[in-house]
This record gives sequence, structure tokens and C-alpha cells, in this order.
Amino acid sequence: MADIEKPVLSEITGEFFDRVVAPAEIGEKVRSCLQCGTCTASCPVARFTERSPREIVRLVLTGREEEIMRPEVLYYCSACYSCAVRCPMGIRLTELVNLLRDVMVERGEGPLPTQQEMVKSVENYDNPWLLPRAQRDRWARKLSERVKVLPGKKAAVLYYPGCTAAYLPNMQKVALATAEVLNLAGVDFGIMGRDEVCCGSTAMRVGMKGLFLEQAGKNIEKINALGVEQVVTACAGCYGIMKLSYPDVAPLEPRVLHVSEMLARLVEEGSLRLGPLPRKVTYHDPCHLARHGGITDEPRKVLEAITGLEVVEMARTGENARCCGGGGGLRTGHPDEAARIASERQQEAVETGAEALVTCCPFCGMNLTDSLALGDGLPVLDLVELVFESAR
Ligand code: SF4
Ligand code: SF4
Repeated sequence: MADIEKPVLSEITGEFFDRVVAPAEIGEKVRSCLQCGTCTASCPVARFTERSPREIVRLVLTGREEEIMRPEVLYYCSACYSCAVRCPMGIRLTELVNLLRDVMVERGEGPLPTQQEMVKSVENYDNPWLLPRAQRDRWARKLSERVKVLPGKKAAVLYYPGCTAAYLPNMQKVALATAEVLNLAGVDFGIMGRDEVCCGSTAMRVGMKGLFLEQAGKNIEKINALGVEQVVTACAGCYGIMKLSYPDVAPLEPRVLHVSEMLARLVEEGSLRLGPLPRKVTYHDPCHLARHGGITDEPRKVLEAITGLEVVEMARTGENARCCGGGGGLRTGHPDEAARIASERQQEAVETGAEALVTCCPFCGMNLTDSLALGDGLPVLDLVELVFESAR
């Protein structure tokens, strides 16, 4: 055991490491790698790649630049943070991959062609879905007077649906249910409507650092100007980026909350009463909420507050939950692999005997729903949909 605790490659780091990795925040930490392979064993994507996460670290440390700086190696990562939370040395491998993707993009060798379309859409339309800005607030039309549009009106809370819930017809139900639930609980909230822009996560995850900084900068400025006290989102990806990456760009004045945190508080205070819903469900922890954001209890507290609802856990839950395969640009860059990973998560859900799979991220919801085309699985619901149904 004494030997395994000693870094095995730190003395042979080369020029590539010193130039590219060492100056970054995660840099020096990478030197402590034990080459234990825990990251590879945790990785949902490793079996599809030419180089496993452990090998990526070894190649970085030994200066084998030409073997590692290749799209076939670096664009097989769903940014699930499994490696990062399990590494015994605390190496944030997710961030190392992201850093190397930034360098690939600087060299004009990334992102992948399908990902380039997505980032062009962010540049041109402020969303990754190739849809016009004028359609961003369409989901809210059904609510008419029941939702305030800021900054014309004032509110204490900004509800930020994010691009997936705002634009995609099969995920707008998440935005609608969130707004309905906030109304039912008496939360003084508003939306930015057409003025909202992509949080920048899509760009950041594929190595488009410049575009990410632009989107984040725009968002921070717009949100700070609203004078709200809190920003709440029901998207785990938007939450992770705003809460954990925006502070490195510029101060975001309001506090960032995932909707599960707000709902758990509203239930505890008695502002939200949840009626009987006799169903059996299982809960999927989104990577960006559980591992990146550290939120695993709040969604469960909300589910537990629904009388009659039976929650059965999958074999892997919380910080150990399996990834849905949708993140990190994997769904866009390697859709077949992303669907296979989602289908495996669905199998785990089926094994619980539940009748529905609940999650609290529209991006996970979309990927887990689409994987039903590959075989068995459960209907997917968002936490806010279930809460809305139970609160009426
Ligand atoms: S889990 Fe950490 S220490 Fe082990 S091989 Fe991976 S990066 Fe190195
Ligand atoms: S973040 Fe997830 S997909 Fe990416 S290397 Fe780590 S374990 Fe693999």
C-alpha cells in the first residue's frame, strides 16, 4: 500500500505538461496521479475510446502530445465527473479533459463537426438548437398574465429555464411546470423572455472557451441588471455552470439555486403542499447536480413530501449514479454511444420495478427518453412535473 500511495509519474513530466497543464488551476495536482485506474473503472465512455482516462493522464505527464491531442481521444467524455469524485488523489480529470479541448480548439482541431454546428448556433442565436431568438419565450405563452417578464416588471426571483426547456417542444413541459409550481407556492418570480441567452455550458464543454466567456459575460451583466435576489433554474447543466463557473468570469450578484433546493425549502416552510400521488418511481441524479453541484438530498426530500409516492432507488444513486450519457457534447458528437449509455441507465431503472423514471434536468430527460428507441425503459418525468401534478 505504501508504494501505491506514491505518485508514479511525477518525476518524468515533460515540456507539454509544463507548457499546457501546469499553469492551469488543476495542473500541479495532476502530478500526484497514482495510475491506479479508478478513473477508468468509473468512466461510462472509456470502453468506446482509444485512450482511457488513466492513459490520458499518463500521456499528459509523459509528454506524449501527439497521442493525446486528437479528437478521437478528447471528444469521448460526457463530463460526468465520476472520475473527479472518485480519484483518490482528488485530480479533477473532467477539468483536465476540458482544458485539453480548449487547446484543441485554439489549434483549430476541435470541436467535432456536429458540435461546430451547435456552437455556431450559440454564436448566431444564443441557443444551441438552431432556433431563432424570437422563439425563446414561446413556452410561456400558455401562461399569459401568470408570468412576469423582466426587466419591464420587477420580481425577487428570476426563473431561468435554459435553452433545452425553453426551445424543445418535448421539454417545454419542464419550463411550464416550473412556472406553475412557483406560482402555486406564491414565489415572486419573473423570466427574461426573449432577452435570455444560453448559459454557455454547451460552448464550454466542447472547448470553446472564448464563446463561453462571451455568453457568461452577457448573462452575468443582464442578470445583475435585473436586481433579483435569486436565480432559479430547473436545468442541472445551467445550474452547475452558473453556480460554479460564473464566479471565475465575473461576480453574479443573485444567489443561484437549482429548483429542487427551492422546492425543498418551500415544502419545509409549508408554502407548497403536495397531495396524494399513488405511484412507484425511481430517481436519476443528473451528473451536474449530484457530482458537480453536490445536490442529492433536496430532490429526494421533495419526492418524499408527496404522499402516496413510493420511491425506489436504483443500484447506483447519488454521487455514484450512472451518467445518462448526454453531457459534455457526447450526445452531439457521438449520438450512438450516448444513446447506449442512456439505455443502460434505463435498464437499471427497469430493474427497480418502478413505473416511471424521475429526474430533474431536461437534458437528462431528453437523452433518457430518446434511448427508449433502443429497447426497454421507463417513461421519464421531471421532478417539477410530478410536483405540479401533486400540488394541484
Ligand atoms: S483515479 Fe486519479 S490517481 Fe488514479 S489513475 Fe485516475 S487520475 Fe490517476
Ligand atoms: S468526466 Fe466522466 S466521461 Fe469524462 S473522463 Fe471522467 S468519467 Fe469519463
